[in-house]
Amino acid sequence: MSINRRQWLARLAAGGAGLLLPSRSFARAESIRARSSGGGAAPALRPEAPPSPSPRPAGCPLPLADFQPRSMLHVAEHKVLRARFPVIDIHTHLGWSKGEEVSFLATPAELLPVMDGKNVRTMVNLTGGSGAGLAQSIRTFEGAAPGRFLTFTEPSWHRVAQPGYAQWQADEIERAKRAGARGLKVLKTLGLFLRENGTTGSLVKIDDPRFDPMWDACGRLGLPVAIHVSDPEAFFTPIDRFNERYDELGNHPDWSFYDRDFPSNAELLEARNRMFARHPNTRFIVLHVGNNAENLGFVSENLDRFPNTVVDIAARIGELGRQPRTARRFVDKYQDRVLFGTDAVPPPDGDKYPQQVFKDELYEIYYRFLESEDEYFDYAPAAVPPQGRWRIYGLGLPETILEKVYHDNAARLLGLA
Ligand SMILES: [Zn+2]
Repeated sequence: MSINRRQWLARLAAGGAGLLLPSRSFARAESIRARSSGGGAAPALRPEAPPSPSPRPAGCPLPLADFQPRSMLHVAEHKVLRARFPVIDIHTHLGWSKGEEVSFLATPAELLPVMDGKNVRTMVNLTGGSGAGLAQSIRTFEGAAPGRFLTFTEPSWHRVAQPGYAQWQADEIERAKRAGARGLKVLKTLGLFLRENGTTGSLVKIDDPRFDPMWDACGRLGLPVAIHVSDPEAFFTPIDRFNERYDELGNHPDWSFYDRDFPSNAELLEARNRMFARHPNTRFIVLHVGNNAENLGFVSENLDRFPNTVVDIAARIGELGRQPRTARRFVDKYQDRVLFGTDAVPPPDGDKYPQQVFKDELYEIYYRFLESEDEYFDYAPAAVPPQGRWRIYGLGLPETILEKVYHDNAARLLGLA
């Protein structure tokens, strides 16, 4: 059975009960999508204009969803078919877990030809599950192709309200390590979905003390924690004409955290930082460019403040690439603490998120962004830029930095060096 990410996140919080979130934002964005779909009630730039045949004469209303301008720039294009150095993709999803169950999105035989072609030596499957599911993930991928796949485990959120959870979870991390887990993955479930009674009650805070033994166990056992906290800033603002991720939130209305009882982006990051401060001996991979790719000044401050943290670039080259000079300075300065990751999800699931669909073209775009100085190109293989309507510029990193970002930084963190 195939489930989408919203259902999956909701089920995680519900402990596998399969409950979906109540979603006012869904209804709101559904109406946005209806308005912008071109199906009759398009958002009219000039509502009084008469209906026009296609193609529309200049000056007539054009539904936003139909607007797909093609760049007329004549600038250099460099296809980068293979990474300059072997790659460790620190951030992939080869399956989804629910309780101790896992379902896989692809087989090693399907993944390896793309990996070989693109010079990806190792994929780190972050959503490897727990217990029996974790064992199955490790067997399925690492068993088939040793060295090409590594697996992270996940917390058992559905047990959070049970007595003794804190110690049980810490012990479970130790069992996961013995089973072969290479780290712990924490999804944005924590802070945005997980509630005291699964999907009801108050949201469980990121710095809730019940998780302290778990973070400590990871530090003691040398397991890095890959943590996704909060989301793009635009997900916390109204879905209106000012929202720079209007299309994306129209496609995924459940990604909006604007209303209901959600904390603000700043509050989530503050709770995260209080937790980081309490666990200086645990190493954190702060995913998606430190959970705040729009604000590299903030991310820099946090990297300075928490030496036990590194970041990945997964699903955020759209952000980095539209601020190429700031991003280049950032990567220069933190060249030993930036990891390559894509957030890859194999198709057909991945087709819903073009900025992270596992295929040749995805890796080629990442490589072009890191290696070339090309200007104004698409950050995802999609007709409409899926995260926001802009294009990106390459960083043109030198070989010494490329090798660290592609491989060495992750190898050191994972104990592979
Ligand atoms: Zn991810």
